[in-house]
Amino acid sequence: MTRLIFLGPPGAGKGTQAKVLADSHHIPHISTGDILRAAVSEQTALGIKAKGYMDRGELVPDQLVIDLIRERLGQPDAKPGWILDGYPRTVVQADSLDGLLTELNQSCDRVVNFDVPDEALVERMFSRGRKDDHEDVIRRRLEVYREQTVPLIDYYQTREKLTSIDGNQSMEDVATYLSQVI
Ligand code: ADP
Repeated sequence: MTRLIFLGPPGAGKGTQAKVLADSHHIPHISTGDILRAAVSEQTALGIKAKGYMDRGELVPDQLVIDLIRERLGQPDAKPGWILDGYPRTVVQADSLDGLLTELNQSCDRVVNFDVPDEALVERMFSRGRKDDHEDVIRRRLEVYREQTVPLIDYYQTREKLTSIDGNQSMEDVATYLSQVI
């Protein structure tokens, strides 16, 4: 069983690593960012609510992603394991996830924290060219990360779940290191 949370700033390369690892472990890669972007492009009720926040680089309200994750982790393919990428991002979300996992009789094995210096993040996001990858929005996403998500590093450290990894290396090197620590 593999149940992992990938934590880290925007542009840290969590999604790329999560995809590869999830495929090789035959478990779903659950990215709240991907799910929200799909909802926006399909103009679902969730997408319509989320769009403005995402365009500004703000987090969408906790309750929206809490409901989304409850629904997603309840699906049968998520029973044997999962990689959560981009969730939780706030202490409220982390507390909620704790409760949900208890209900599901599951627990997270490890929280992997991707460490990447700011300059590298900004450069990666620029070259990615996504719609929310404009300079002012990137800056806001980094601020929001610092204010709301960084506290989760301590949160999971205290719970002895945290492993930090140097995300400022080649994709291959990060993947190799990751396979050693999980
Ligand atoms: P990145 O890691 O590059 O910021 P993501 O794809 O993870 O990109 O997220 C894109 C956007 O989706 C975020 O800026 C935010 O608006 C929204 N989002 C994703 N996950 C969450 C979450 N757990 N809580 C609140 N908002 C979220």
